[in-house]
Amino acid sequence: MADNTNQLPYFFGNITREEAEDYLKQGGSSDGLYLLRQSRSYLGGYALSVSHGRKPYHYTIERELSGTYAIAGGISHNSPVELCNYHTYESSGLVCLLKKSFSRPSGVQPKIGPFEDLKENLIREYVQQTWNLRGEALEQAFISQKPQLEKLIATTAHEKMPWFHGSILREESEQLLLNGVKSNGTFLIRERDNNGSYALCLLHDRKVSHYRIDRDKTGKLSIPEGKKFDTLWQLVEHYSYKPDGLLRVLTNPCPRSSANSSAAGATSFRDFGLPSPPTVNWSANGIISRIKSYSFPKAGCKKTTNIERTRSLSKANPNVYKERQADRAIEASLYSMPMDTDVYRGIYEDPDELRAQTVKIQREQLSLDDVELGSGNFGTVKKGTLKMTKTERKVAIKILKNEGNDPSIQEELLREATVMQQLDNPYIVRMIGICEAEFWMLVMELAELGPLNKFLTKNRNISEKNVTELVHQVSMGMKYLEEKNFVHRDLAARNVLLVTQHYAKISDFGLSKAIGSDENYYKAKSCGKWPVKWYAPECINFYKFSSKSDVWSFGVLMWEAYSYGQKPYKGMKGADVSQMIESGNRMESPPRCPPELYDLMKLCWTYKVEDRPSFVNVELKLRNYYYDIAQ
Ligand code: AMP
Repeated sequence: MADNTNQLPYFFGNITREEAEDYLKQGGSSDGLYLLRQSRSYLGGYALSVSHGRKPYHYTIERELSGTYAIAGGISHNSPVELCNYHTYESSGLVCLLKKSFSRPSGVQPKIGPFEDLKENLIREYVQQTWNLRGEALEQAFISQKPQLEKLIATTAHEKMPWFHGSILREESEQLLLNGVKSNGTFLIRERDNNGSYALCLLHDRKVSHYRIDRDKTGKLSIPEGKKFDTLWQLVEHYSYKPDGLLRVLTNPCPRSSANSSAAGATSFRDFGLPSPPTVNWSANGIISRIKSYSFPKAGCKKTTNIERTRSLSKANPNVYKERQADRAIEASLYSMPMDTDVYRGIYEDPDELRAQTVKIQREQLSLDDVELGSGNFGTVKKGTLKMTKTERKVAIKILKNEGNDPSIQEELLREATVMQQLDNPYIVRMIGICEAEFWMLVMELAELGPLNKFLTKNRNISEKNVTELVHQVSMGMKYLEEKNFVHRDLAARNVLLVTQHYAKISDFGLSKAIGSDENYYKAKSCGKWPVKWYAPECINFYKFSSKSDVWSFGVLMWEAYSYGQKPYKGMKGADVSQMIESGNRMESPPRCPPELYDLMKLCWTYKVEDRPSFVNVELKLRNYYYDIAQ
């Protein structure tokens, strides 16, 4: 479903309808001449402009909830390109068939919208202030959650606009406009009532006109009989370039009075284009801080349940409408983000929880629950609680079963702990410490939803987009491991643990090795109890392990994920798998796997190590695909 619309020669970006018409004229206005542009009213939508009988016609292409695209009432297509191609042989609803695309003149790039310019800075600022993240933690949050954050910012960005005055009274808005600069076109927007509607107040000829902005059942905003918009800032942008039924265009935002300007942003809407972002303070803002303090849904909970919960909260709160806005923002954010969990950042980032040199944990600090999370070669993994200086944390405790007191088993656990101790990434299970007591115990961050393969087997309703989000996070963790010169050697869906339905961490470093700076692979001395179905040919044939062989395993992990927890090479013996690989055959695509990602899987299964992509490439491919489908 991913598309590269932005790279199409006939995509013009955020141009106005009039600019589109000028371009079509430049192209000769022949029947069926067309171009594509970004919708200025619908988030993620497009507009198709077509010439017919020397007149321009414009069609909005909406992005549907399923991620497909359609002209209202028309059939759905996987991408705007597919939609255009379809209309080259079926006019169905259009004024004529699309005959010839009009390409951007040389040197003309797709126009970037005013919000696009600012979005990235706004998101960073938002992430920094809401989760108090800096540096690498901020970067990782930004990369993995960009589509969700964009939606959140888009639906709440108006709060940062100088023209947004919150819930002031009609009389107050008149005073502000009449006592201010008094120039025609000065405007503000205020909140009207409990139904999430607003009013646009516009000064013209020393009179203030109030236009109602209603929200329809689907959440779209419009002035009665006017064009519909997803967000207030799109509405303001539209009416600031054409009156479209208003007395005149909007020009100057009426500045907020000091009483309601705590979150004052840019001084003019046009400032959007300036390189430096306005100083905003998300946390000082009502809605944002509500979202921050909102307890996000635990994975598996239905979104509606949480929204209903917010609604029931709103009954107790007279400011119901603020609650509704929060609902929308929550709907936009869709779910709990990794940063909302307490395992996004390491336990020792709190300066009051200084990591002991030895990472030894005292037995008194630990209490073990009866809950068994799973079991592996070493013994069992139990849920427990770790008492720290200031707080307590739920943790996972790997308990070494070593009845014979065999020192080599302890050494193995220590080796795993030593590797884990050197890793610090949000998408990798962190080790917290070791406790030597009645048993040896390895204390780790808790990923309560357990292994990815089991989770997906039980939850087949999870969307492919959700699976892609998780798989992308695994690639981020692996890219980090590759950078740090570690090979995992047991990368498989069973070793990806879920903190929430939207947060994956790589675990089980029992077989992992650090690669010396002068080599690029680890050579095993002998063949052990190996997960051969996940191993690249060079591991089986030459015992050579590198990040590139982890890439091969990652391909198998992708196959497991998109087949919702099926076993790879089902029913086959290790030797048969090797033969199949050597003869150039690979597993088929799982039915629900998007073709682009099956291509990536096959790329991960490139026979020659030197031709196989690295995690830097794999992560970027997944990231681009994920952004495309999650826009
Ligand atoms: P392992 O010995 O590392 O393969 O772990 C065995 C099983 O214990 C896993 O398959 C998980 O079900 C569970 N487990 C291990 N580590 C954790 C953790 N950090 N959080 C939650 N469950 C875990």
